[in-house]
Amino acid sequence: MTSSTTATRQLRNLIDGELVDGISGFVKLDPTTGLPLAEVHEAGRHQVDRAVAAARAALDGPWGRMTVNDRATVLRRIADAIERRFDDLVAAEVGDTGKPETLARDLDVARAAANFRAFADVTASTGLDSYLTELPGGRQALNYAVRKPLGVVAVIVPWNLPLLLLTWKLAPALAAGNTVVVKPSEETPSSATLLGEILLEAGLPAGVVNVVHGFGPDSAGEFLTSHPGIDGVTFTGETSTGAAIMRTVAPRVRPVSFELGGKNAAVVFADADLDAAVAGLSRSTYLNTGQVCLCTERIYVERPIFDEVAARLSESAARLRLGRPDNPATTTGPLISQQHREKVLSYFELVQDSGATVLTGGRVPTLGDGLDGGFWIEPTLWAGLDNTHRAVREEIFGPVAALIPFDSEDEAVSLANDTEYGLAAATWTRDLTRGHRVAQRMNVGMSWVNTWYLRDLRSPFGGMGLSGVGREGGHHSLEFYTEPTNVCVQL
Ligand code: NAD
Repeated sequence: MTSSTTATRQLRNLIDGELVDGISGFVKLDPTTGLPLAEVHEAGRHQVDRAVAAARAALDGPWGRMTVNDRATVLRRIADAIERRFDDLVAAEVGDTGKPETLARDLDVARAAANFRAFADVTASTGLDSYLTELPGGRQALNYAVRKPLGVVAVIVPWNLPLLLLTWKLAPALAAGNTVVVKPSEETPSSATLLGEILLEAGLPAGVVNVVHGFGPDSAGEFLTSHPGIDGVTFTGETSTGAAIMRTVAPRVRPVSFELGGKNAAVVFADADLDAAVAGLSRSTYLNTGQVCLCTERIYVERPIFDEVAARLSESAARLRLGRPDNPATTTGPLISQQHREKVLSYFELVQDSGATVLTGGRVPTLGDGLDGGFWIEPTLWAGLDNTHRAVREEIFGPVAALIPFDSEDEAVSLANDTEYGLAAATWTRDLTRGHRVAQRMNVGMSWVNTWYLRDLRSPFGGMGLSGVGREGGHHSLEFYTEPTNVCVQL
């Protein structure tokens, strides 16, 4: 292990129900202070081999033979266990990400429990796909498809909503009877390790879920996705990483489910309820310091209300409170890492060089209180850019958006769709007929009207274009995590 002077907490891999040392290690920093938080044991090829072997053995064991109802019961027990360990999970999420405690409670950890309950319900109520086929001469054939688990699933997740996104994949994978090897982000190893322990406490057999720590290329991530023992990969993260994983799994044609990046638009019409729109835009731009794949980075505003929206949204951004996660008044945490802040700041410089207007923010703040070694950045808003600028085309993944005026509905739709991404969009208008019309014309997986990030966990979640492959949510998740075998019986 790499030694560190102050990080004493050790995060090990979880393989076949045991905490296992890595071959080397790295120090995870606290994003609020920049100080060491924990030492993480990085899994080598050997540990990844063991994790995949443990998952394979568990698939062939009692877990693989459990009835659907019994599995649904286990999932509900897991949700209860998450609620019992709620405060510990909040502490793990907050420590790794620096996000406000209130956000971790209301969003991340609450959704983790909800994910397991939702997929317990979905799997328990899913029927068979069956057809009675009419044959010549009055005979019939009965076709029915049974669904089997996909097998050993590699689950690779990012750092922005670590527990929420992990459980969003884990719950349906387990509901469908799979076994899993998880590779959490190197930036957020804590909640995955803790969840692994909670799953065992809830009665999940050893080896059903294994957690290996490390990085992507030439580390645990790549060892896992290139492993011949896995049957599929579900991944959430950057588009370029999705492309690399696709290349890795291509020789063995394994199925992939990809939730990738976004460059999401909001369109605000002049008839919108401006109080609701400004509150919604502030949330969609700055929630989790802009580090949500669904966050808005392009805001198209109908020209007559452009100045008013610009003024009101700037005021709203300037009112956000950066600070310690345990202060209930804190609304906004730091970025995840120094490296990520450098990336976000590089766009701030590009915009400054282009002569566009910084309506608010644009700098690294000075906070005092021991926080200035952390990876803080001001919530920022720009005007004066157009769709050709790199800051309007590329995903920044920080607390920032560009405001751009438009003059007609067609122009708004065409500006919003002028991107290679296709994850999410929001339309703000009091005219619901137009709301439906515009929402449907958006080339995205998720199109909101007069709201943002409102989710029914049964509805399809995912993106088109550079934003992903496939959909997750409700039965859409089960499509990925199962393999159908059709049985045809001539009657
Ligand atoms: P990332 O792609 O850098 O890393 C994600 C995970 O992949 C990490 O665990 C990382 O270690 C691993 N990884 C990296 N290279 C790999 C490789 N070659 N092989 C195997 N594993 C590899 O993403 P990030 O920076 O952690 O997360 C931010 C990105 O995630 C943003 O682009 C954001 O839009 C996207 N995201 C998308 C969604 C969605 O649902 N569409 C949700 C959240 C985040």
